[in-house]
Amino acid sequence: MELTSYAEMAVRLVNTEQPLRGRDSLTSLTDLRQLLAGKRAWQQLADDGDIDELRALRGRLRQVFAAAARGAERQAVDELNALLTEYPVHPQVSGHDGSDWHLHLAEGTPSVAAGFAAVACMGLAVQLTQLGIARLGVCQAAPCSAVFIDTSTNRSRRYCSDRCATRANVAAYRARRRDLASGDAAAVGDTHAPDLRQQPGTPPANV
Ligand SMILES: [Zn+2]
Ligand SMILES: [Zn+2]
Repeated sequence: MELTSYAEMAVRLVNTEQPLRGRDSLTSLTDLRQLLAGKRAWQQLADDGDIDELRALRGRLRQVFAAAARGAERQAVDELNALLTEYPVHPQVSGHDGSDWHLHLAEGTPSVAAGFAAVACMGLAVQLTQLGIARLGVCQAAPCSAVFIDTSTNRSRRYCSDRCATRANVAAYRARRRDLASGDAAAVGDTHAPDLRQQPGTPPANV
């Protein structure tokens, strides 16, 4: 497996929480096993302590993405470096179950959470240094605030998904129409409360 692909573990962990929607999908062992899909050994070893530890890690990883997204590069890097120190990788070449020799990054880590953290942070560090820190993003289609890694060729990604991009486009279209409509209303002397642009005579934007 490519090291860079491990960065997706960081993305998936952070996105188990949607802070602006008050949603959290990492609250039970079932949730945790879902997050660990495809990693059977970890699924079997996971316990409640791992949930707490990963929830804490989740908040710190979100800070890394948020800082990077607002251009606070040093802050993002400092936080990620702190995590890399706290959760070191334990690399071992492994050939279990008759598979080819391959690299395990978290062999014998003290807990599933520590293993997950080590691999996810390492993947994120590799991705950040290879693609550039500006590739770490937070979805701009509020109330979504999902994080993502922009791997697009034109480096212009602003949304976590096509769904959010569509939603943002529709919202922008509606806002333009609303502006147009309120402009018309002002022209005919409507006397509702002023809108945010302090133009007297426009109706409240409540669409
Ligand atoms: Zn293996
Ligand atoms: Zn989104």
